[in-house]
Amino acid sequence: MRLRQLSPLCMPVKDNRAGVGRGLHGITASNSNTRISATRIPNRVATAPLATSFGSENLGLNSDRMRATMVERLHSQGITNEQVLAAMQVIPRHAFVDEALASRAYDDASLPIGHGQTISQPWVVARMIASVCSATMPSRVLEVGTGCGYQAAVMSHVFPQVHSIERIRALYDMAKERLRTLRLTKVRLVHGDGMLGLPTVAPFDAIVVAAAGIRIPQALLLQLNVGGVLIAPEGSSAQRLVRVTRTGALSWDRQELEEVRFVPLKAGLQV
Ligand code: SAH
Repeated sequence: MRLRQLSPLCMPVKDNRAGVGRGLHGITASNSNTRISATRIPNRVATAPLATSFGSENLGLNSDRMRATMVERLHSQGITNEQVLAAMQVIPRHAFVDEALASRAYDDASLPIGHGQTISQPWVVARMIASVCSATMPSRVLEVGTGCGYQAAVMSHVFPQVHSIERIRALYDMAKERLRTLRLTKVRLVHGDGMLGLPTVAPFDAIVVAAAGIRIPQALLLQLNVGGVLIAPEGSSAQRLVRVTRTGALSWDRQELEEVRFVPLKAGLQV
């Protein structure tokens, strides 16, 4: 574990070029928000008696079992946090994607959600949420990049208070509607620029950033409670998950985790 003290003004980008050499050109809405892994894990576990073709009613009948298979797979991929696994067993991921993609909702993959964005790979969602859970469970949590609202929904089963910001109006509206339909109204959604955080609600015990910036925005680091944890993908063509713990008024510890590929963190709003 490598820890360094950082000034919030100069969060450096680690050059990951020595790892998997993928350029920005390889990033599409269907392969981003995923882990870059040397060993490909099959999308579907062979023993799972999954339906081969189904409409949404048929998927409904099978979705508990498909989620159980997804959760078993996450466990075999090293996710051990019981609360995170329980939340992912409960939240219907297929309800957050277009009906045409619903049959792939429990695959080990990110999927397009429109506007050039993705729903994160299940492993990424589980890893990020588990990474901000420390000895004291976070109470007030911020997500930057609501997208379709799936990760926020999972977080609402783990943390008492979840705020999530999305910059694209159409996705914000869609997420709001989906969460309302699933009666997950406890999640507080904001249409805004998450690079600025949510100063009126801060400080947060945890911040989960679902889009990659060259650097972690300073505003977010300053909106963490002392002892709070932020997880974010960092980098451009090569990216890595970074976990930052605020250790004092002006000190942060930084830990680099897996190589990943995320959609970009962008400033400003898209209306
Ligand atoms: N949380 C999602 C993943 C969403 S994809 C899930 O449940 O799987 C990342 C999202 O971040 C996109 O919807 C994108 O529009 C959004 N985003 C990028 N930059 C942002 C910013 N500055 N503020 C808020 N949202 C941002």
